[in-house]
Amino acid sequence: MADHHVDLFVIGAGSGGVRAARVAASHGARVMIAEEYRVGGTCVIRGCVPKKLLVYAARFADEFEDAAGYGWSVAKPTFHWPALIANKDREIARLEAAYTATLERYKVALVKSRAGLEDAHTVRLAGGERVRAKTILIATGAAPYHGARIAGLEHVISSNEAFHLRELPRRILIQGGSYIAVEFAGIFNGLGSEVTLVYRGDNILRGFDDDVREHLHGEMQRRRIKIITRQTVAAVEKVEHGYDVELSDNEQVMADLVMFATGRKPNIHGLGLDAVGVKIGETGGIAVDAYSKTSVDNIYAVGDVTNRINLTPVAIREGHAFADTVFGGVPTPVDHANVPTAVFSEPEVGVVGLTEAQARARLAKVDIYKTSFRPMKMTLAGRDTRAFMKLVVDGITQRVVGCHIVGPDAGDLIQVVGIAVKMGATKADFDATMAVHPTAAEELVTMRDKATSYTRAAAE
Ligand SMILES: Cc1cc2nc3c(=O)[nH]c(=O)nc-3n(C[C@H](O)[C@H](O)[C@H](O)COP(=O)(O)OP(=O)(O)OC[C@H]3O[C@@H](n4cnc5c(N)ncnc54)[C@H](O)[C@@H]3O)c2cc1C
Repeated sequence: MADHHVDLFVIGAGSGGVRAARVAASHGARVMIAEEYRVGGTCVIRGCVPKKLLVYAARFADEFEDAAGYGWSVAKPTFHWPALIANKDREIARLEAAYTATLERYKVALVKSRAGLEDAHTVRLAGGERVRAKTILIATGAAPYHGARIAGLEHVISSNEAFHLRELPRRILIQGGSYIAVEFAGIFNGLGSEVTLVYRGDNILRGFDDDVREHLHGEMQRRRIKIITRQTVAAVEKVEHGYDVELSDNEQVMADLVMFATGRKPNIHGLGLDAVGVKIGETGGIAVDAYSKTSVDNIYAVGDVTNRINLTPVAIREGHAFADTVFGGVPTPVDHANVPTAVFSEPEVGVVGLTEAQARARLAKVDIYKTSFRPMKMTLAGRDTRAFMKLVVDGITQRVVGCHIVGPDAGDLIQVVGIAVKMGATKADFDATMAVHPTAAEELVTMRDKATSYTRAAAE
């Protein structure tokens, strides 16, 4: 006998779950949501938001330095890590309260508990209570994954712990080449730590355009981040002053903190999926159709647990579309094409659409436009850094199918370029748009000379 009956039970109050719960409730559904940790999920509590706050903090270092070229004399700045963490925690608590208030306003019942499936219509809470639900949404997100068990793994932290360190490490070794790894490398470097990045592949940011990877690699090295590729961490040993880290080629690196950002895995364990018949897809996430429906008719899944595109706006869109489909009477598939995204590294990266390699593999003819330049602000600052921009154009239709930016505000720029790319703008549309001068973004509409042009027939 169930303790409650609802129309929708949502497991996980993160980006996707909260949006789905709120929109389903606004369509008139009785909704209950379970959260085992903190309302807001990864993005708000230990992902995008606190990360961006730390990125802002790290960037002040350059601002203080660069101000001198513009005539300012600034007393030698000092940095206090505990003050930053306390202020960040206060902001995260404020946001968590705002998310909770939103759920209350929409009359979504919140249970602070772990939840799992007992059968296709019954959710079981940690205390043993049962809830019957017509529809169940799994929005449990993903968690850091450390990879192979190596000696000393217990000393290694993930991004989760990085947000709560008591003190700033003097030397940090980060393993990984993902966006999270390079973002934290930039954060700790900016705040004054000595950073070593160890990555098993040829270059950081696998899956991004090769020019972007190379440009960012060079810029990070210029900032004295030591990047070691084609190596992995073989063992971590606690020694008197920190950790002795042994790499796969036997090189030793000393560090005060070791962090792995080696990937994330969907939170599917302990949910009772097997027993209910919810299938897992090839990428290790819950398999779903275009409407986020799983292999069981009344069970849906959105966000990182489905391992489609693991970004907050995507999880939110999937949660919203699910609620409109099931409770709003409007079947709404989610379009996962041309999702713009940013890496808040130093310098920042913004990308949308195809990389050059993807375009070459898919299209008969590809035109490439690219430019690298010193942003104007860096001239008086005397800072030796360059921005990079690249347009990937379908050589037949002349549509811009990819845009890749490395440089200040790349994340903000790519949001706007993303609209043009999504609308199918051509290179001629970019050219016809008047430049905004003097800006870095004007380069996007003033690239006239093809860097390369590739025709599949010619290449074969
Ligand atoms: C360090 C870091 C930085 C990031 N930066 C960005 C960024 O800049 N931009 C961006 O778009 N994305 C970023 N992301 C990714 C983004 O955070 C995720 O894509 C997004 O949070 C996914 O939302 P979700 O709803 O699928 O899952 P989540 O937000 O992870 O929410 C899942 C929730 O379910 C809860 N839960 C899990 N299992 C259970 C259970 N059995 N019972 C009850 N509750 C459960 C969890 O505690 C969690 O609160 C970042 C991630 C990390 C880790």
